[in-house]
Amino acid sequence: MRSDLLIRWIVNHYICRMSSKCKDLKSWMDIGDEPLLIAGPCSAESEEQMILIADLFLKHRKPNILRAGIWKPRTRPNSFEGVGEVGLKWLKDAGIKLNIPVITEVANTKHAEQALEAGIDMLWIGARTTVNPFLVQEIAESLRGVDIPVFVKNPINPDVNLWIGALERFQAMGINKLVAIHRGFSSYDRSVYRNVPMWEIPIELKANCPEVELICDPSHIAGTRDLLKQICQRAFDLDFAGLMIETHPNPESALSDKEQQITPKVLDQLCSNLKPRDSKISNQNFITKLEILRDKIDEIDASLLKKLAQRLEIIREIGTYKKENNVTVLQIDRWKRILDTRMEWSNHLELNETWMKELLSFIHTESIRVQTEMMAD
Ligand code: PEP
Ligand code: MN
Repeated sequence: MRSDLLIRWIVNHYICRMSSKCKDLKSWMDIGDEPLLIAGPCSAESEEQMILIADLFLKHRKPNILRAGIWKPRTRPNSFEGVGEVGLKWLKDAGIKLNIPVITEVANTKHAEQALEAGIDMLWIGARTTVNPFLVQEIAESLRGVDIPVFVKNPINPDVNLWIGALERFQAMGINKLVAIHRGFSSYDRSVYRNVPMWEIPIELKANCPEVELICDPSHIAGTRDLLKQICQRAFDLDFAGLMIETHPNPESALSDKEQQITPKVLDQLCSNLKPRDSKISNQNFITKLEILRDKIDEIDASLLKKLAQRLEIIREIGTYKKENNVTVLQIDRWKRILDTRMEWSNHLELNETWMKELLSFIHTESIRVQTEMMAD
């Protein structure tokens, strides 16, 4: 089995009900082969700020879509919670000046209604809303029959099904211009990131719902300007279709997320320094070499799986033996010895320690599960 199919097989317990009705991004956004660029401030703060950002975009680089938050979901009260409805017109006017569509976050049906009334062209669902199926359902129902693109950020917790579920709720209401935005996941652990990227989650989303467009919001993953470039490049390396980058005329004075915002000038430099990657492989030499290497991976994966099956057979034999002798399934000393020896072997093989520990514990969990079931028979 090819390794990419194998990965899809491994994750196929997440059954995505998204049909292929989703419209290709390029069919509703005139972007050619370029990645989509959404830029604009974290929050619309004043009419002057929105006029200024439009002027600076005209001077340096014009994004494909202008963003600005109007209602801001804040962790603590008494911080800037957005200017509210009045800002919708500032956003729309700035979009008209730039001649591009505008997008804002809606977190309830009232926001959605007001945004539609003000002629906002596209909507995004924030990470704190995606976690709540009731709210998502209400917003989706309020958009039934409206032909508007909806961008859905990942939920703050790393739950791919919750993310897929939110996309499905919009699709069920007839929204077929759907885009998923990866903005990282909250973590209690200390990290260089504001929200840890956990790239495997958006990859899983894409493997399950290949027809959903996926873009990256490096600003909320990074939390600081200096990490933006590496995150953007990573997104391109992983074939993301675009970026949403918070851009402010004067980040230092921003009323929200000031550490992560950049000026339009810096945005232009950042975009110029990124290397877009080609997802469609056309070079024949490259294809041939890739196929040879992939064949090797296929072989290795096949033998890995065979070995795992053989291992499980012996686990069953041991299970029978333990049962006959009335001995506990968990033998903590043995597990410790397994870990110690295998970690030493991994060290010699220069394998990543954390990865190996996780893998071993994953394998051990299955052995315990199998033997525990046997005991109960
Ligand atoms: C935002 O884009 O400004 C925002 C609040 O995003 P998130 O929902 O990802 O936190
Ligand atoms: Mn923000």
